[in-house]
Amino acid sequence: MPAIGAKRVGVIGAGMVGVCTASWLQRDGHSVFLIEAGEPGRGASFGNAGCLNGSSVTPVSMPGVIRNVPRWLFDPLGPLSLRWSYLPAIAPWLVRFMRAGTPEKVRAQARALRPLVGPTLDALRPLVSAAGAGDLVHGLGHLYVYRSAESLGKDRLSWALRRENGVEIDEFDADELRQLEPALSREYVRGLLVRENGHTSNPFGLVQRLLEHFLRSGGELVQARAHGFRLDGARLAAIQTDGGDLSADAAIVCAGAYSKPLVAALGDKVPLETERGYHLMIADPEAMPRIPTADADGKFVATPMDTGLRLAGTVELAGLAAPPDWRRARILLTQGRKMLPGLASSHPEERISVWMGHRPSLPDSLPVLGPSNATRDVIYAFGHGHVGMTAAPMTGKVVADLVAGRPPSIDIAPFAPGRFS
Ligand SMILES: Cc1cc2nc3c(=O)[nH]c(=O)nc-3n(C[C@H](O)[C@H](O)[C@H](O)COP(=O)(O)OP(=O)(O)OC[C@H]3O[C@@H](n4cnc5c(N)ncnc54)[C@H](O)[C@@H]3O)c2cc1C
Repeated sequence: MPAIGAKRVGVIGAGMVGVCTASWLQRDGHSVFLIEAGEPGRGASFGNAGCLNGSSVTPVSMPGVIRNVPRWLFDPLGPLSLRWSYLPAIAPWLVRFMRAGTPEKVRAQARALRPLVGPTLDALRPLVSAAGAGDLVHGLGHLYVYRSAESLGKDRLSWALRRENGVEIDEFDADELRQLEPALSREYVRGLLVRENGHTSNPFGLVQRLLEHFLRSGGELVQARAHGFRLDGARLAAIQTDGGDLSADAAIVCAGAYSKPLVAALGDKVPLETERGYHLMIADPEAMPRIPTADADGKFVATPMDTGLRLAGTVELAGLAAPPDWRRARILLTQGRKMLPGLASSHPEERISVWMGHRPSLPDSLPVLGPSNATRDVIYAFGHGHVGMTAAPMTGKVVADLVAGRPPSIDIAPFAPGRFS
């Protein structure tokens, strides 16, 4: 017997954001179905670094970012690269990205993000415990390491933004760092530990377990590609898919980097891009950090996963269609060996695996979270960029509030879909 006020809700996209959203909606008593075009959890949610960092409030575009653009264009293997052939297509996004990086704007972006990412572990806990996935989520903190005081100095604003937003940070010198994480290279002379952060040791497994629980609790999974919406006046009648129309009282767009055509189908416009990222994994590694450890200069994270050591990160601006440049993943191996000298200097290919995925990114590093202009029955929840694993649980809670007609527990005005028009 459905609860009073219960709706039939279709959630498009079964990545971490879609599955958390579907789970929170289901807990509110709605009849929920997920629509997934591929395999659930195989999108960006598959190969990320697994960090659940409530401290991740620093936007990607920071003051002075414009000075770096020539380096992005001329160093295809640098931490951030931009393919020449993609420059014309991405130029309007880049302009907005540069403009988002003023000192006032980054302060506002960080303030907006903190309520979305700060409560991550609390918002994830009920879902994880119901799904019996507690073994995949750990609250051990996150370590950032630097090779010189100078390079730490360059990140001064990032650390100030975290502190201003209530993040507590412990600083370590070279000796203390060695005691904290003996596997790390002695080249690192500074470490900053954020104890409130957590991680999952299997991002794909986490999505799968949450999905399995959702299905066991009466949720449905529809294998189809959504391409639009049938409206009856200002009300949603159905979600249109390649398998036919699916009637629904509400629809939630959680299609990550692929959300743009669904937004366009309702006449809305958002400057969504993909920041492509890579990982390289070593099975049975000879050395691993105890907790996720970010090399701040190399812009990559080494995360201890259930299936080995994952080196993940870097940004490549080259769109959704271009083939992966696997040299970018291989470079992570070189960097990983420098970070963890205990790793062997060569590994048999069968112990190495590589992956490329699409972060769904808006120029101001904030997601799109709120109803469409065309109808309040379609809610957008995508564009979480570098922090989608982290922001997914709170995003799901906010969507459940919106569908129930409750005021959301956090301010979502900074995430308004119409903020770019
Ligand atoms: C290298 C790398 C490292 C990262 N590290 C971290 C990290 O440590 N911590 C963190 O918080 N974030 C991290 N991220 C970012 C994070 O992975 C993403 O923000 C997050 O996974 C996005 O989740 P999503 O559910 O929105 O998208 P996805 O996981 O991509 O899921 C979207 C789903 O929608 C489906 N879909 C698309 N279009 C349609 C359609 N029309 N109809 C039906 N289904 C559709 C897709 O098949 C896909 O399954 C990282 C990303 C990368 C690339």
